[in-house]
Amino acid sequence: MRFVVVTGGVISGIGKGTITSSLAYILRERNYKVDIVKIDPYINYDAGTMNPYQHGEVFVLSDGTETDLDLGNYERFLSRDLKSGNNLTTGKIYKWVIEKERRGDFLGSTVQIIPHVTDEIKRRIRSIGLEDNSDIVLIEVGGVVGDIESMPFLEALRQMRLEEDGKIFFIHVTYVPTLRSVGEPKTKPTQHSVKELRSIGIQPDAIIARSETELDRDLKEKIALFTQVDEKAVISVPDVGDIFTMPLLLNDTVLPNYMLEKMGLKPNESDMEFWRGIVENIKKPSHYVTIGVVGKYVQIKDSYISNEHSFMHVTGKTGIGVKLKWINSEKEENIEEMLNDVDGVLIPWGYGPRGTEGKIRAIRYARENKVPLLGICFGFQLTVVEFARNVLGLEGANSSELNPDTKYPVIDLLPEQVGLTDKGGTMRLGDTKVVIKKGTKAYELYGEEVVYERHRHRYEVNPKYIESIEKNGMRFSATDESGTRMEILELEDHPFFMGSQFHAEFKSRPEKPSILHEALVLAASRYNNIRRKKFIEQEKFAK
Ligand code: GLN
Repeated sequence: MRFVVVTGGVISGIGKGTITSSLAYILRERNYKVDIVKIDPYINYDAGTMNPYQHGEVFVLSDGTETDLDLGNYERFLSRDLKSGNNLTTGKIYKWVIEKERRGDFLGSTVQIIPHVTDEIKRRIRSIGLEDNSDIVLIEVGGVVGDIESMPFLEALRQMRLEEDGKIFFIHVTYVPTLRSVGEPKTKPTQHSVKELRSIGIQPDAIIARSETELDRDLKEKIALFTQVDEKAVISVPDVGDIFTMPLLLNDTVLPNYMLEKMGLKPNESDMEFWRGIVENIKKPSHYVTIGVVGKYVQIKDSYISNEHSFMHVTGKTGIGVKLKWINSEKEENIEEMLNDVDGVLIPWGYGPRGTEGKIRAIRYARENKVPLLGICFGFQLTVVEFARNVLGLEGANSSELNPDTKYPVIDLLPEQVGLTDKGGTMRLGDTKVVIKKGTKAYELYGEEVVYERHRHRYEVNPKYIESIEKNGMRFSATDESGTRMEILELEDHPFFMGSQFHAEFKSRPEKPSILHEALVLAASRYNNIRRKKFIEQEKFAK
């Protein structure tokens, strides 16, 4: 087994996660079995209770683990499901160490960061690779070198360098800024951050220098000289715009071959044909559709990243470009007007009452004007609320999450959930069986009766209202195994109006785009076509 460690320097947010996922993809394409460990040095046990305003979207793994959104990128790039062990946090490590101490595993010794915490870190990293029989384990250390929280992790990795003799490769991702006033890229911050890394005993084997534009030979030489890294292994990665270009860009550098050779592995070069195909579609779509995304967190970068990626996957497959129009559901006054020029609507995940009335109005608009719509999780639940209010005439119908006193709780906790109050523990999380009914739109799309989809929610369609909802034209076309939890809904009298209680976006991959996102885009494309035709007709008429 080999290990590739990716650390960050100077500042965060320069694409370390994208670089790590891209390397994982490249190595997979070269026929290596690759695994990934993301280290998040914060004390939280997992990302479940973190605020999207700070951290963006919470991703969920198939086993129900709530993680940082980087794990989503890894799953998408590697095209495989990861599990709890692929994400290490300080909280988890300390919890395990303390549990062992309580059990008496340390035989009366003083429990210390070195060796007890560092041993636990090394053991967990290695066990991930061993469990899956991996050839290469990539380890991304979150944050930047110098952060106090990441010290025990870096110390553990330093020890691994000695123990793994030649089978571990360190990549340091840094930033080379260009000051507008000076006009030239500055390598000093990189020098300092490598110095910091070396002061804790880690000499990087390669440097990825992120910068606005490609660095020239002189600058790379300078970085090599100051950091004692082989000049060949100083890799310049300029801004590329979209993250899908990164695997191609890195594959064209010497880094993959250099890295594999240093670890004693064959280069197994790959032409990355599949990936080139999707990047081509993403760069030059045949035409575009506009999807209005109505949400509370639209101004916060990465809150809906898995949905954004799902649409890119669809573009990669179909060649239809997707422009996202972000619509803030808290500014509900002009929502109908904002939706005037979209070809489709997405109502994504959400929690709590703020901004929901705006979403409900958007749903009503799409339903009445026959604009294609996909509601996901909270979006699914709100389509039921809107339908209950405006079609069934149940005034004030709501989800009991949003109004506990509503007369018509069409979305509610199931009887067995009532009384569970632990915020971190009552969610329905991870992959579960979804049973699709034959003869429905959902079945037409999935072509299978049983699929596994990923969840993160508490509330459910209230079984008491199902019959009257279905009588009035909204059909629940998939349920859980027992038939009590509704999973997919569709409107009969509408060209495309669907919702899923599960997060279709979490399982979307470039190699297998989300079926529901793809269906929305195809419907939006048809809708766009009709709109264009109508427009041309009108123009002719005006002449
Ligand atoms: N707030 C809703 C629930 O907990 C929906 C959650 C979501 O959109 N992920 O059921």
